[in-house]
Amino acid sequence: MGSNTRVSKADYYEVLGVSREANDQELKSAYRKLALKFHPDRNPGNHAAEEKFKEASEAYQVLSDGDKRAAYDRYGHAGAAAQGFGGSPFAGSVDIGDIFGDLFGEMFNVGGHSQRGSRQQRGDDLRFDLTIDFEGAIFGYETEVKIRRLETCTTCNGRGSASGRGPTTCGQCQGRGQVRYQQGFFSVARTCGACSGTGSVIGDPCTTCRGESRVSKELKLNVKVPPGVENGTRIRYAGEGDAGRSGGPRGDLYVVLSIRPHDFFERDGQDLHCVIPISFPQAALGAEIEIPAIGGTVTIKVPEGTQSGKQLRVRGQGVPLLNDNGRGDLIVQVLVQIPRKLSRAQRELVNKLAESLAVDNKPSSPSLMEKMKDLFN
Ligand SMILES: [Zn+2]
Ligand SMILES: [Zn+2]
Repeated sequence: MGSNTRVSKADYYEVLGVSREANDQELKSAYRKLALKFHPDRNPGNHAAEEKFKEASEAYQVLSDGDKRAAYDRYGHAGAAAQGFGGSPFAGSVDIGDIFGDLFGEMFNVGGHSQRGSRQQRGDDLRFDLTIDFEGAIFGYETEVKIRRLETCTTCNGRGSASGRGPTTCGQCQGRGQVRYQQGFFSVARTCGACSGTGSVIGDPCTTCRGESRVSKELKLNVKVPPGVENGTRIRYAGEGDAGRSGGPRGDLYVVLSIRPHDFFERDGQDLHCVIPISFPQAALGAEIEIPAIGGTVTIKVPEGTQSGKQLRVRGQGVPLLNDNGRGDLIVQVLVQIPRKLSRAQRELVNKLAESLAVDNKPSSPSLMEKMKDLFN
């Protein structure tokens, strides 16, 4: 079991490709380069480029602001968020379209990238860490998890206002969504704090959500883990993240799996490995041994004359292949146990055996021995 958090983000300095000591000029030129390369106008329909553009813009917004940068350096993304930078690239207090406009105003027609005039915003993606048993990862697993997420307020149906009248023009910014201020040689547009850049305010906020249009709720969600998943597998539940603001689309939920280790099985891709001890007589004479397998038992046949360390393969007793009917193998390594203590009767028997099982104690090179082992195995 675990708890849900926001999906982790890339390091802002890495995103811009600058050192942690980078000055304003270095930040600006790094951002400029990335922004020119990935700008949506230059990469129409290219979602990856758009993401990169957003990522770089977000990194630049935080690092170019002294307070946010200090908070980020100290506390990471959470620090930047506390300084008024939310999980969504557009949830911040500086409008991307405008920073961009200030830097490259003449080069592009930077329309359509601003959230101005719209209160709608996509909800955040959420992450839920789920720990499951080894067997669950192999055969699949279904469970109910409790997640906390933002839901559209039912009192006001996400409108945010008590009367349902909806938002009115923000007096602080006259509906522009931003206020301008001077930073060095630049005039920078900052998102209006009064309306969070939406250009409108709610005069009679809904008492349930206090005008936020969303409320935090805990709910149960059924999680289906398919058979054959690996440690770290992410399962995406589209539209199960936070509700969007003011009717915006929902974010996604990512369930990230970690798998508890098994007492004796280890996994190597689709194969399972374990080691079992066998006696000298079992190795010498051969034997049928029943051993535990995942979800039952299997009988393995130890052939006559089996050497210690030999690996026996049991077909189809491994991990199911994702999206396939096949299964990997179970690989059992047998280790011949040499008794550490013998009773008198046993000692006599072994002595008798020793006479007829003499070994020529002639040395040979270790690498030759390795080859011989391969031959016999
Ligand atoms: Zn405003
Ligand atoms: Zn409400």
